[in-house]
Amino acid sequence: MATQYDVVVIGSGPAGYVAAIRCAQLGFKTACIEKWLNKDSKTVYGGTCLNVGCIPSKALLDSSHKFVEAQHHFEVHGIKTGKVAIDVPAMVARKDKVVTQLTGGVKSLFAANKVDGIAGTGKLVAKDRVVVTDHTGNQQELTATHVIIAAGSVPIEIPPTPIDQQTIVDSTGALDFQEVPKRLGVIGAGVIGLELGSVWARLGAEVTVLEALDDFLPMVDRQIAKEALKILTKQGLNIKLGARVTGSKLTKGSKPSVTVEYTDKDGEQKATFDKLIVAVGRRPFTKDLLADEVGIELDARGFIKVNEKCATNIPNVYAVGDVVRGPMLAHKGMEEGVMVAERLAGKKTQVNYDLVPSVIYTHPEVAWVGKNEEQLKADGVTYNVGVFPFVASGRALAANDADGMVKLLTETKSDRILGCHIIGASAADLLQQIVIAMEFSASAEDIGLTMFSHPSLSEAVHEAALAANGHAVHIGNKKQRH
Ligand code: FAD
Ligand code: AMP
Repeated sequence: MATQYDVVVIGSGPAGYVAAIRCAQLGFKTACIEKWLNKDSKTVYGGTCLNVGCIPSKALLDSSHKFVEAQHHFEVHGIKTGKVAIDVPAMVARKDKVVTQLTGGVKSLFAANKVDGIAGTGKLVAKDRVVVTDHTGNQQELTATHVIIAAGSVPIEIPPTPIDQQTIVDSTGALDFQEVPKRLGVIGAGVIGLELGSVWARLGAEVTVLEALDDFLPMVDRQIAKEALKILTKQGLNIKLGARVTGSKLTKGSKPSVTVEYTDKDGEQKATFDKLIVAVGRRPFTKDLLADEVGIELDARGFIKVNEKCATNIPNVYAVGDVVRGPMLAHKGMEEGVMVAERLAGKKTQVNYDLVPSVIYTHPEVAWVGKNEEQLKADGVTYNVGVFPFVASGRALAANDADGMVKLLTETKSDRILGCHIIGASAADLLQQIVIAMEFSASAEDIGLTMFSHPSLSEAVHEAALAANGHAVHIGNKKQRH
């Protein structure tokens, strides 16, 4: 007999588990279905983000950053370390421990909030019925007043470089190398390619990034992207723009390698690597998820079609996170999950899609929100620019970490903040101050009149706001209006 729920959530990534917990908090009888299995065939909650995405990549970025610090940057502080060595299996094992702790945390949160975690692949067979098949083939049916689909995304594969997870890997394989590859190729200079390329470059790999586009990070403010390219290149990433990968040849044996063919402005090229990471983007995952009879509409790229409230074309069926339009970011999915849960409870919750912060967790980090200069020019907006370089920040200099800048864009007429673009240490956390300010429609003057702790990196945000109106204190003021 089918078990009846108020809400059934399919998928327990950040969009799904947050939706499930919020539904349960609001008094709905809630189940969350998850098909992800660990090496011992045990169900793990948390999705891409916790298992093979945000968290493990940050664990390796943090470890490899500490290695670079110990190797190159301690001496300036008067700390002598002797020869610094890297134990890759230990680094990867620590990453796995962090993942286990956090995925276990989701399981505990389900228990604490009385969400029923259900193991298996969920298929929507009617608008109010989900059949779950576990890995042994057992089936059960759940009926639901509301269904929230949060099935997430998977890496895109391209025909020239089929993934074998040995020599040619996707982002998941790139989190588990057991030694530092001597020559590492990365296809795609997007967020994931740059983060994973950075990890292995810091540990000593010669890294070549092949990017089809001529522009570096086209979604990022040009001034910030230019700075990022300069810094990452100095760190040893060989970033080749306008290089489209067209084929590859594997050499097997005791020392496997892959020769990649690509075309650039000079014609056909080849490069040989010990490992190749394919990081060309992700696609929504809807395999075995939707029975045709239900009639859920997908868009041309395979995303489940939803409106701004995350409702699909079928009443009482919602979809959130990477499986729907919008940036593929954990926090965007989480907020969508909360919105759907709260609207089911009669609240008027919305997601402000204009204020989704984005971060690249290289060092320095790159973080931005709102409009960039190129977008404001295209929109014909008259705007002011306030820039503060970290080299003028006492806290950044004290930390010996003074690359980058804070750039604030405001509307000239109203002084309202329209965008913020940061490259620098802790950019993600610094940016958040401006995300909050923008949520409250703050002006640069509001930030300028706010007191900031001294010395702190946040003072760079304060000074950029002052600079937007021509009265920064700790740098010269240039022309602001554009
Ligand atoms: P997912 O996390 O993909 O979860 C979907 C879940 O649904 C999965 O567990 C899947 O097994 C399950 N599922 C699918 N179909 C079914 C079914 N039929 N039945 C049962 N279960 C099903 N984002 C950030 O915001 N910050 C970062 O720093 C960041 N770093 C990243 C680094 C890497 C290497 C990668 C790959 C991604 C990163 N992302 C980051 C993106 C982030 O991981 C995703 O945006 C986020 O996980 C999407 O959440 P989701 O809940 O929509 O989907
Ligand atoms: P993102 O979607 O941000 O993860 O970035 C993926 C990047 O991979 C994009 O910048 C694409 O231009 C790039 N890309 C996709 N296909 C290829 C290819 N065949 N060769 C080189 N770069 C590619």
